[in-house]
Parts: sequence; C-alpha cells; structure tokens
Amino acid sequence: MTFKSIYPYTQETIAEYAAHTPEEIEKKMQAGWKAFASLRHESLQRRCDWMLRVAELLKNNATEHATIISKEMGKTLKEAKAEVLKCATTAEYYAANIAPLLEPRPIESDGKKSYAAFEPKGIVLAIMPWNFPYWQVFRFAIPNLLAGNAAILKHASNVSGCGLAIEKLFLEAGFPEGAFQTVLVSSKDMEPLIADSRVQGVTLTGSTPAGMSVAALAGKYIKKTVLELGGSDPFIVLKDANLAEAAKTAVKARMQNAGQSCIAAKRWIVEKNIAEDFTQQVQSVITSLRQGDPFRADTDTGPMARPDLAEELSSQMERSIAQGAQLLAGGEREGCNFIPALLTGVKPGMPAFDEETFGPLAVIITANDEASAIRLANQTPFGLGAALWTKDIEKAARLASLIESGNVFINAMVRSDARLPFGGIKQSGYGRELSVEGVHEFMNIKTVYIQ
Ligand code: NDP
Repeated sequence: MTFKSIYPYTQETIAEYAAHTPEEIEKKMQAGWKAFASLRHESLQRRCDWMLRVAELLKNNATEHATIISKEMGKTLKEAKAEVLKCATTAEYYAANIAPLLEPRPIESDGKKSYAAFEPKGIVLAIMPWNFPYWQVFRFAIPNLLAGNAAILKHASNVSGCGLAIEKLFLEAGFPEGAFQTVLVSSKDMEPLIADSRVQGVTLTGSTPAGMSVAALAGKYIKKTVLELGGSDPFIVLKDANLAEAAKTAVKARMQNAGQSCIAAKRWIVEKNIAEDFTQQVQSVITSLRQGDPFRADTDTGPMARPDLAEELSSQMERSIAQGAQLLAGGEREGCNFIPALLTGVKPGMPAFDEETFGPLAVIITANDEASAIRLANQTPFGLGAALWTKDIEKAARLASLIESGNVFINAMVRSDARLPFGGIKQSGYGRELSVEGVHEFMNIKTVYIQ
C-alpha cells in the first residue's frame, strides 16, 4: 500500500510513500517505549531546552515547512507560514509555563500529607487530520513531550510529507530517537496500534465518524481518548452589534483555510432587523476574495484539499438551493478550486444548516429575535465553538451560558490559543487540548496519601 501526496491546485502527484510494514511499526513502538523510559527521567529543563530548539527550527525554516503544507493540502503559503509560527510560539509558551503545571498539587485531608502528582504514562497515539497538518500535531505533541510522554502520529493519508518532516524536526531539535515518530499506516489498520499496551492514550482530531470508530476501539482496550471532531459553529450577530466589525470578522472566520476548519463560522445567525445590511457588507467582501494559486501573494483562498471534499460541498450547496436557499455569490467549482460562496435564506432542514460544511461556503440564517438566535445556534448535533456579537457585554455573558458549546467568543472569532482550553461537547467530541487541561489529559494523576 502507498500514500500519495497530490498538490490540490493542479492535481499533480508530488510524492508517494510506502506504508510501514507491521515489523517496521513494531520497531517504532519499541523505539517509542525506550524514548518514554528516558524522557520521563530527563530533567524538565532539558525537555524545555529541546522544545525551545523546536521553536527555533520552525522559525528559521518557516518557508520550507510552509511549502510542504501548501503543496500537500493547498492552503496559501501565507496561511501555512502563520500556522508554522503559531506552532513555534506555542512551543515557547509551554517551555516557559509548564513547570508549575507538572508540580504535585497539595491537598488537605485527614492524613499528614496528601497530594496529587502528575506522571507521564507512555506513548500517546495521535490520529490527525490534514486541515492544519502542523498545528493539530504540535498542539498535542508539545505538552505531551514536555510532560514526559512519547508520541506516535498517524497523519491523514494526504499529508504524509508533513508527518515525516515533523518527525525529523523533533529529532534534529535534540529529542531522543523515538520520542516523536510518524507511522504511515492506513486508517483501516489502526486496531493493533490502539491495542498495543505501550500506547496509553489516543487523541483524534477529525470527523465524527472517525471519532466514533476510534473511540469504540479504544474503549475495547480501555484506552483514554480525547476527541476533537467536527463543528457547525454559530456566529451570532445581534441587532446591537458593531456591524462592520462583525461582517469583516465573519468572512475571515468562515473563509480562512478555504473554510476547512473545525471552528470555522459555519452558520451566520443574524437578527432580522440588521440582516439586509449585514448581507450587503459580507457579500461585497466575499466577491472581492481572490481564489487560486496558493503560492501567489495576492491569493486569499487556496483550493480545497481534495476533489471529493469540494464535490461534497457543492452537493450540500446545491441541495440547499433546491430547498429554497439563494446563492448570492460564488459557488463555481473546478477540481479542488471552489469559488467562495454566499447563501442566504438558509433554514433548519437544509444541508447547509444541518450538516458540517467543510469549505468556503458562507451561510446566512435570519433569526426573529435574540431568543430565536440562541435556539437556532443550539439546533445542531455539534458543540465546538460559537461567536456572539453584541455591544452589551452583560447580556453577552448571560447568553454565553445558554450556548451549547465548548468555547464562546464574544465580539471575536473562535480560535485556539495555548492559554485557553480547547475542545467540544455533543458530537464535537470530548476532552480538552491546550492550557492546563491539555497537559493533564494523558497523565497519571496519582493520589499520594501519607498517614
Ligand atoms: P477523517 O476524519 O476521515 O480523517 C481524519 C484522520 O482520521 C485522518 O488521519 C484519517 O486517516 C483518520 N481516520 C479516519 N477514519 C479512521 C478510522 N476509522 N480509524 C482510524 N483513523 C481514521 O476526515 P476526512 O479527511 O475524510 O474529512 C472528512 C470530513 O471530516 C470533513 O469534510 C470534515 O467535515 C471533517 N473533518 C474535521 C476536522 C476537524 O478539524 N475537526 C479535520 C478534518 C476533517 P486517513 O486519512 O488515512 O483516512
């Protein structure tokens, strides 16, 4: 079996990689276990020094890494560079801030002393997607390696080059051989890896069906999972919002990365009094976006990552139009190139409302009032993020508590940030990445009690 990397913009095959054999995978497991044994006893200072070197290498070679990303999954080089630099700043952030998070936490009890210690557990297996092929990987790898776990990555089949480049980078930065490894393996062949006793946890970012299948297997072998799955985030604009800011941010929050983000603003829910104004403003920005060559500096949105994904988005758009939605801009498609589109008149029951739309398709849903906006926002099986726009901050805080999601951003777009916990509820998954929660997910929180 081989994995092909195909440049989405032209559909040209740029590389082919042979899948690892079971014997090669066993060698990697052995190396990972050996690395774990040395990493856990290594001083935190040394692990932090290696992580700072990771950051330095990412910054020094940002264009080279960004080129691999753009070639394999099509995002613009600007976006890819920003992604690489975000990985570097997150490595620096954790190197500077993780020490207190790994210190034992004293707890008062009836004993002389009691505390919770945080200990690494072994190899964390990560199954990661292609949409942010560096960021999604570093987001789990940085805290885990600093905490003393080893990591094995099964990357999406279309971004094997990214996976191998990241493996090389950790090694070059000084981490022991086996601390971070990439396995080239089909998603159908994951059971032996999940079952392996050296694997102590599984983290998956991807679609809800992939999450269901991996979590079922992990459950069979009693492995803890963190699932960061799809989303259909509402972007709610109330009538007292700063409309110009909201409109500008809505387009960015939907169209960046060619709309292929779990936390993209997939459903714009706008109060009816301002819907016409909002529509005009976003329509003019969307029609001005330049779609095309990821390597041109003036390209705003690159191609989508695979033709099947672009075809699925077209189908969701067409079926919504057949049910009464109106297309106000874009929507033409050739291969992976999908012209950023705007649909209005979207309602529950249409694919553009009910399903996750993973591409550059903006959708306007009109709400009669604030209460109906919140009802519509929650009318989804997903619960990852939500944005809420209003000048009344007290009201915003009250409404935030009514929104069913793992993140609510007021007067801003949803984004991940090393300082803030990130994750979802409902079909968007469970567990948290980043912040302190992300550090502890795959650690043994060991209670020690002294009488
Ligand atoms: P998938 O969820 O299929 O892929 C994500 C990762 O999971 C890949 O590494 C994939 O490997 C792996 N995977 C898939 N199925 C299994 C399985 N049964 N067991 C083990 N690993 C598995 O995403 P797609 O690329 O197919 O994209 C489809 C849709 O998923 C998108 O349209 C979007 O809705 C959603 N998605 C959401 C993401 C997010 O950030 N939340 C990211 C990417 C996609 P392989 O590539 O080898 O199949």
